[in-house]
Amino acid sequence: DGAPSDGNGGVFPVDKESKVILKGMRYVELEEWVRSHGFRPDQALMLWKLLYGNGIWAHSVDELKGLNKDLKRMLEEHASFQSLSLKDIKTASDGTRKILFTLEDGLVIETVVIPFQKERSRTTVCVSSQVGCAMNCQFCFTGRMGLTRHLTAAEIVDQAVYAQRLLSNEVGTIKNVVFMGMGEPLQNIDNVLKATDIMVHDQGLHFSPRKVTVSTSGLVPQLKRYLHESSCALAVSLNATTDEVRNWIMPINRKYNLNMLLETLREELRHKHKYKVLFEYVMLAGINDSIEDAKRLIDLVRGIPCKINLLSFNPHSGSQFRPTSTEKMMEFRDVLAEAGCVVLLRLSRGDDSMAACGQLGKPGDIQAPI
Ligand code: SF4
Repeated sequence: DGAPSDGNGGVFPVDKESKVILKGMRYVELEEWVRSHGFRPDQALMLWKLLYGNGIWAHSVDELKGLNKDLKRMLEEHASFQSLSLKDIKTASDGTRKILFTLEDGLVIETVVIPFQKERSRTTVCVSSQVGCAMNCQFCFTGRMGLTRHLTAAEIVDQAVYAQRLLSNEVGTIKNVVFMGMGEPLQNIDNVLKATDIMVHDQGLHFSPRKVTVSTSGLVPQLKRYLHESSCALAVSLNATTDEVRNWIMPINRKYNLNMLLETLREELRHKHKYKVLFEYVMLAGINDSIEDAKRLIDLVRGIPCKINLLSFNPHSGSQFRPTSTEKMMEFRDVLAEAGCVVLLRLSRGDDSMAACGQLGKPGDIQAPI
C-alpha cells in the first residue's frame, strides 16, 4: 500500500487522489485514523461494522446507514471505499463462479467462488494475492504470465467483500477463504498478513482463522514468519516426492528443497497446538503418481500433523502434462490411507471456465456468462 501521513501523525494507505483506502486498514489503524479526524472509537467501530459486518458490506458513503452525519461528510471527502471494479462474472456448468475485477491501474485479476449446494457452509472464495506469479510452476497457467505486481491488502480484502456482496444470495454466506488464486501469497506476505487479520476480525467479516487458508509453493523463511504471526491455516503445494521432479515442476525447490521445507514444518508445528498443515498434491500422469511416489510421500510427511489433498490436474492448452486417471488416483489414495494418512481426493471443479487451481489468468474465452 502507498502510505503517506494524513498530517496527524498517522500513516495510512492512500489512493492516487490521496484518499485513505478504508479496506487497507486493520481495525486498530481505522480507529486511529477516525480518531485523528476528531471522532470517537465507537464511531470507528460502527464504520467497521458497516464495511464488513453481517450482510451489509457497504461500498459507498450512501450505504452507511445510521452513521453520524459529520463522520459521513469527512469520509466523503477523505476516504475511498473500493479498490476493485467489477468487470465480469462467468459461471461454469458446475456452478463455480469466476469474477473478473479491474484494478485502479487497469490490470485485471480473478476471484473464484466455489459453491457447495449440499453443504452451504463449505462455500469458498478463492482470492488472488498478486497479478501473475513469479514462481513458474510448470503445471500452472498463471505461472506462465510472470509477476506484474503484488496486490495491496485492500485489493485482497475487497475480493472477499465483493464475493459476499455479489453472490451470497445465490450461494449462501461464504465461510471459507483460500489464497489459491493468482500469485504466491507468501511473496506478498505483509499485505497477506494484513488482509487475513482484517478478514478474521470478530466485529467484521469474522471468518474463522481455521477457514482462511494461505497456500504456498514453499517459501521457507516467509512460511516460518506466517506460522509465527498468523493464526490462519496453511496449505503447502507439494506435488512431488523427489527433489529431481520437484526441481523441475516447481523451480522454487532449487532454493528450498523438500528436506528444508518439510523439516521446517516439522519443527514449527511442534509448537502449534492442534494445527494441521494441508498438503496439496496435483497428480500428473507418469510424473508423480506411482505407487513408489505414494510410499515416499508417507515417509516425507511422517511427524508432520497434516491432511493431504490429492487434486486432479486440469489440462490447459499447450500443457505438457496429463491428468492421472481417477482409478489411479484412488489407488494412490488407498496406499496413503492404509498408512494412516488423512487423505482426500479432490476431483476438479470449474474446468470449463478455467477457474480451477493453477489455471487463472487465461484470457477471456469463457463460456456461459450469467
Ligand atoms: Fe504461482 Fe501458485 Fe501457479 Fe506456482 S501454482 S506458478 S505459486 S500461482
